[in-house]
Amino acid sequence: MVEYAPFLHKYLDDLHQTYASLQEGEVADYIPELTKVDADAFGIAIVTVDGHVYQTGDTRLPFTIQSISKPLTYGIALEDNGVEDIFSKINVEPSGEAFNRISLEHATGRPRNPMINAGAIAASALVSGDTPAEKIQRILDVYSKYAGHGLIIDYDVFRSEKSTGHRNRAIGHMLRNANILDQDIDEVLDVYFQQCSINVTCRDLANMAATLANEGVNPVTGVRALSSEHVPRVLSAMATCGMYDGSGEWLYQIGLPAKSGVGGGIIAVLPDRLGIAVFSPRLDAKGNSARGIAVCRALSQDLNLHAFSNERYSSVDVIRTAYNLTQMRSKKARNTEMLEVLSRDGHKVAIIEASGELMFTTSEILTSYVCTHTTDARHIVIDLRRASSCDKAAAQLIIWLDELLQSQNKTLILTGTADKSGLTKYIKQIIGKEKVKQLFAIDDLEQALVHYENILLEDAGISPFLTEPVPLEKQPLCESLTPDELGQLTTFLVERSFPAGEYVCHAGDQDSSLYFLIAGEIGIYLPLNHDRHQHIATICAGGSFGEQAMLEQRKRSADVVAITDSKCLMLDYEKFAEHKDERDIQVLQLKLLSAIALDLSKKLRMADQEIGFLTF
Ligand code: GLN
Repeated sequence: MVEYAPFLHKYLDDLHQTYASLQEGEVADYIPELTKVDADAFGIAIVTVDGHVYQTGDTRLPFTIQSISKPLTYGIALEDNGVEDIFSKINVEPSGEAFNRISLEHATGRPRNPMINAGAIAASALVSGDTPAEKIQRILDVYSKYAGHGLIIDYDVFRSEKSTGHRNRAIGHMLRNANILDQDIDEVLDVYFQQCSINVTCRDLANMAATLANEGVNPVTGVRALSSEHVPRVLSAMATCGMYDGSGEWLYQIGLPAKSGVGGGIIAVLPDRLGIAVFSPRLDAKGNSARGIAVCRALSQDLNLHAFSNERYSSVDVIRTAYNLTQMRSKKARNTEMLEVLSRDGHKVAIIEASGELMFTTSEILTSYVCTHTTDARHIVIDLRRASSCDKAAAQLIIWLDELLQSQNKTLILTGTADKSGLTKYIKQIIGKEKVKQLFAIDDLEQALVHYENILLEDAGISPFLTEPVPLEKQPLCESLTPDELGQLTTFLVERSFPAGEYVCHAGDQDSSLYFLIAGEIGIYLPLNHDRHQHIATICAGGSFGEQAMLEQRKRSADVVAITDSKCLMLDYEKFAEHKDERDIQVLQLKLLSAIALDLSKKLRMADQEIGFLTF
């Protein structure tokens, strides 16, 4: 099985341990067969819309679905009859009444909503099929799509409820009396009791909840269980009525459409994100799993899942792009030997650029991605420049990821967090100021890339620094020049020195000279708006710059700044061009221009690759 974010299993294990001691409530006994269940059984499962499954405890133990069948059958009834027809027979007003209350709307005789027994019995009767057997088969087929595998009926529970379910029979007769149903009531109840007796596991229920979160498509199997147009209808009925007379408080505290069953199951749905299921058979006075409610409350709080919480919906993909150092490097110039090492070992450094709102659901995707897609990497950089916000749950997930990576002798750093006070605040709050140093060690992505390239080069026994001066004859642009040609070129060159920090030229300068960097290191920065700069390249001795302004005879497009004390040879191209009629100058010019063309072509290739990754 693929381990998405393994630390979430640990979180669920801890939650399971905490709530295992909560013994409140009683197992349902009005259906005698239900008392045979293990009262201590306890499972928790979460399935995301990406099909990631997290579970703990008794998630494979079968029990009967009971009232969690109600939203599913309501969905089938909507599909089989259309919205208007169903609405004329079953209203959608919260009743604030117990699930088995014998009451219908005064004026219309309609059940108040599809989540209490009266509405659910009506919905079962409205499922397509000429016989009860056909109806229950249709129900089983659809529920199996929700669960992701074929489900069966527990006939012992069915018989037990059939022989004792006089109250439900009374509800059935009342529906017949109000002309909501015209079928034989015993047949209708046979379908309803069988639907309630379908066996599921906690894991199945999480799949069902995730299917509702995923517009009706089971995210694990990709099979549609409900047409997407009906999903909001089912979810709103769950939100307002799913927990019976506890629905208001549930929505207020937990904030998720949900449904409980007297078998001990609860499902909760965070639309577009995930489905939750808890199984624990002891029920509170309202017929909802007591431990199930407590666990859902904790999940909602810890993971900030309340559907009406601020910043809930984020439409942006959290993983903007992901690459390693073989695919995209820093902007720092490297020689051939270094490039060979980086293309051989670059997979050891993975970079993930995240964007949008970081909350539990998006961070689960982000951290799962790191766990499953960067297994080759030893160093992981998550760049958060484009992350717009971060809640406490997201910070917690990042910390768990960090702990996991440390246990695997890997390092994690977060770049681009300097102006993300939320993220740094939460992380510092959770693990303490001292411990976060490594995580925030380098804030600039470009610097982080250089740092990790340097580590890879040092690991390969190569000094990452190009400190040796490179005289003119060794400059790559001059490789094909004869000594005479070099001599000639020298007559057009002027030597200039720049102490560290000094500008070589500014964007907008009317200077079209080509520079050979003989010693030192210079940085090229493209001015952006609001005083921001994009670092486009770091050039080391042996490199050249200024060729674009030279070729196009236009103003400088970028600022050039000496990073260390630097020495350049500046070619005054205008003066050089004045001699363009002399044959040997023409040869020299041609050789220089072809070397520049080759260099530009290489740069363009890299830029293309970069654009490819940035638009991935
Ligand atoms: N079969 C049960 C009944 O009708 C379902 C009730 C429930 O799960 N709340 O009584």
